Amino acid sequence: MKTVVIRNGEEHQFVAVAELPAPELLNPEQVLIKVLCVGLDGTDREIVTDNFGMLPQGEDHMIIGHELLGVVEQAGVRSGLIAGDLVTALVRRSCKDMSCSNCRSDRSDFCETGTYIERGIKEADGYLCEYVVEDAKYVVKVPKECAPYGVLVEPQSIVEKVWNQVELIQQRMIWQPKTALILGSGPLGILVAMTCRVLGMETYVWSKSDPQSLNADIIRRIGGHYRQAGDVSGASDKHVGSAAADKGADRFFTGLTAYAAELNLRFDMIWECSGYPPLGYESVPLLNNNGVLALLGVTTGTGRLDIPGDLLHQEMVMRNKCVIGSVNASRRDFITGIDRLRTIEQLYPGMLDLLFSKRIAIEAVPDLDFSAIAIKAVVDVVPPEQWNAMLNVLPD
Ligand SMILES: [Zn+2]
Repeated sequence: MKTVVIRNGEEHQFVAVAELPAPELLNPEQVLIKVLCVGLDGTDREIVTDNFGMLPQGEDHMIIGHELLGVVEQAGVRSGLIAGDLVTALVRRSCKDMSCSNCRSDRSDFCETGTYIERGIKEADGYLCEYVVEDAKYVVKVPKECAPYGVLVEPQSIVEKVWNQVELIQQRMIWQPKTALILGSGPLGILVAMTCRVLGMETYVWSKSDPQSLNADIIRRIGGHYRQAGDVSGASDKHVGSAAADKGADRFFTGLTAYAAELNLRFDMIWECSGYPPLGYESVPLLNNNGVLALLGVTTGTGRLDIPGDLLHQEMVMRNKCVIGSVNASRRDFITGIDRLRTIEQLYPGMLDLLFSKRIAIEAVPDLDFSAIAIKAVVDVVPPEQWNAMLNVLPD
């Protein structure tokens, strides 16, 4: 079968299309999935451009891709699924350490040892190929009417996990969030914005993208407010976003504080989706009392930052503010993610489809220029016009 792999080259890893044997069912709990499409995200970009992928031990290659949409082609008798089911799959697999209570309870997203594996990312083959075999416990059924946006279930599960954690934490009080600020307007930032709108929050997005960009347009079309980072009168620092990385003490204020002052607003929840640490720290004082800052963006750098430690300490203690980090997601988050996407599609028809700014065939992946992707790239392993026949669904 056709696959996209990363291989160890002489100097660095490289991506290639490779012909590999198709997998087969090994036990009756498994299903054979025909891959329809695979979404690419920032982690894939790092794997492809920054040699971030960790190959399985003893192997010289690994199939990439972790955002799966597929159709069950062959179902083991004890899988609970049938041929024709539309499915996606979890990414992380539990560690082997018997002392890891979370992995032993199928909550590998809270693995205590860090020795978990992740399909397409860390020490296991991913989904960017024609066929995948998977244990049914890691497979999530997706309603067939969600096929056009079902590949977003995995990224949406990341959003759901954050919201689930926030709901658990905020049981400490009566909390009725009304305002949300999202830092970053990539695919994840946009899904967060859509989720906050569905949750009834006034939603503000602060990002580097041009106000005329498709990203900004989607935010406005769902009733959100968009502001380009740096586009603030009186901002103390014209060096905004990653461009500020080498400006020493100037790095703390990016213009975000000036934006909040201009709005004369604080936020009940802030979602940091950019992976730029100064934004996260700068935003703590911009939270309302009792508010939550969630860090979703990942940084791989070694940067340092001068921060007003006393102020941040005081804000968190005296105003009950909370900062959480969040990664990966559980089966429950995939399930609520499906429900959320359906609600988004009902309230804002056609907006999810706009995220797919680039659709490519599997052969085009090695030459893909990630920097030229407006929002999100999806690899169509099967052309979308053939999906309905495979799902036994009559076309409109
Ligand atoms: Zn573990």
